[in-house]
Amino acid sequence: MNFEFTESEEAFRKEVRAWLERNLPEDLKGRAFAASRADVEEVRRLRAWQKTMAEAGYVGMDWPREFGGRGAPITEMVILYQEMARAESPQIVNRGGVSMLGPTLMKHGTPAQQTRHLQKILTAEELWCQGFSEPNAGSDLANLQTRAVLDGEAFIVNGQKVWTSMGHVADWCFLLVRTDPSAAKHKGISFLLVDMKTPGITVRPLRQITGEAEFNETFFDNVRVPKENLVGRLNEGWGVAITTLAYERDLLTFIRSISLRNALQRLVKLTQSRGRNTDPVVRQKIAELWIGEQALQLNGYRSLTKILKGGAPGPEGSTSKLFWSHLDQELALTATQVIGPYSQVAGGPWAPDEGQWQFYELLARASGIRAGTTEILKNILGERVLGLPKD
Ligand SMILES: Cc1cc2nc3c(=O)[nH]c(=O)nc-3n(C[C@H](O)[C@H](O)[C@H](O)COP(=O)(O)OP(=O)(O)OC[C@H]3O[C@@H](n4cnc5c(N)ncnc54)[C@H](O)[C@@H]3O)c2cc1C
Repeated sequence: MNFEFTESEEAFRKEVRAWLERNLPEDLKGRAFAASRADVEEVRRLRAWQKTMAEAGYVGMDWPREFGGRGAPITEMVILYQEMARAESPQIVNRGGVSMLGPTLMKHGTPAQQTRHLQKILTAEELWCQGFSEPNAGSDLANLQTRAVLDGEAFIVNGQKVWTSMGHVADWCFLLVRTDPSAAKHKGISFLLVDMKTPGITVRPLRQITGEAEFNETFFDNVRVPKENLVGRLNEGWGVAITTLAYERDLLTFIRSISLRNALQRLVKLTQSRGRNTDPVVRQKIAELWIGEQALQLNGYRSLTKILKGGAPGPEGSTSKLFWSHLDQELALTATQVIGPYSQVAGGPWAPDEGQWQFYELLARASGIRAGTTEILKNILGERVLGLPKD
């Protein structure tokens, strides 16, 4: 692979850089690496920013033209993300929609579903949440118990989901339900698209260690879901969900790396401003993080190349998620060490970068859990990539 960018790619970089300089709102720039998805007002501003980006053609650039993308090559995606990090832009807010549901609908959705949803995913006019996990179905997702029974033209859904990120602000939910309880665990599951305004849905916030309630418990009480909202075939939703999860670990990690790079740049500035850049231990740690971030990027290029050549993300995409979470947590810890006791302060004159490091450090604890825990990803890599015996 040639890592030099061509003249036309450098021209594209110039165009994106100038566009971001002109359009990125100042108040979002300040929230570059720890934007909140709990605060309704901040989510509104992040949605507006995604819409502006989408209208300029910078969201879902890699999507085929027929689905509203540009069919852009990997190099342009890489340049876009580099420039977003450079400009201190937050990640797009509807990232579950763009990186998980979008590719799933392109592969398994009906033409009507694609026409109805894909464009609004890109513009964040409709925000999506993921209704997969349940109180007894997290790592063992196939154990899910939320039931859906077909009654004429609609499924009747009953049950509970948990850890639903942005459930309190989402317009739609992609939901896994059990439609055949007599079948084996991985069979008898279906994948539904659910309008969050449907009567019978109750969303209750769950407060996290960060102090925010970004995720929720979501209850379904006789919720009617039109039968045309089934994605893929009845009882074959597990295969659809595997597509979604593979994209979550692969493409979503690539999008998340914008925040990681933002944080790394801020960490370098922070270290300099606190005179810690002469400390050999700190220098060594930052160099390690920098190299790690570069390695993460290169692994991301590898996955993206495969996807753009028509392949699907495979179990090896778990390496990106695993390594990203490790880097994220190490970065948070290093920032804490550089700042010292004030790293615990959430605001005011003693909290550098408006207290975002305190938030970042606490949120980083979730990195090894969301989108597959560290232990589960190691199992996947051991079994499906290295061919080791099953756990
Ligand atoms: C910030 C955040 C946001 C989230 N957002 C969403 C969302 O929007 N939608 C959604 O559906 N879910 C979401 N989740 C849920 C997430 O996918 C689950 O938390 C995750 O899959 C783990 O499931 P669990 O919490 O039930 O833990 P469990 O599965 O109960 O695991 C508990 C511990 O046991 C370990 N363990 C379990 N099984 C094994 C095994 N076979 N071998 C070795 N170790 C094992 C795990 O690694 C973990 O350490 C979110 C989670 C977080 C933290």
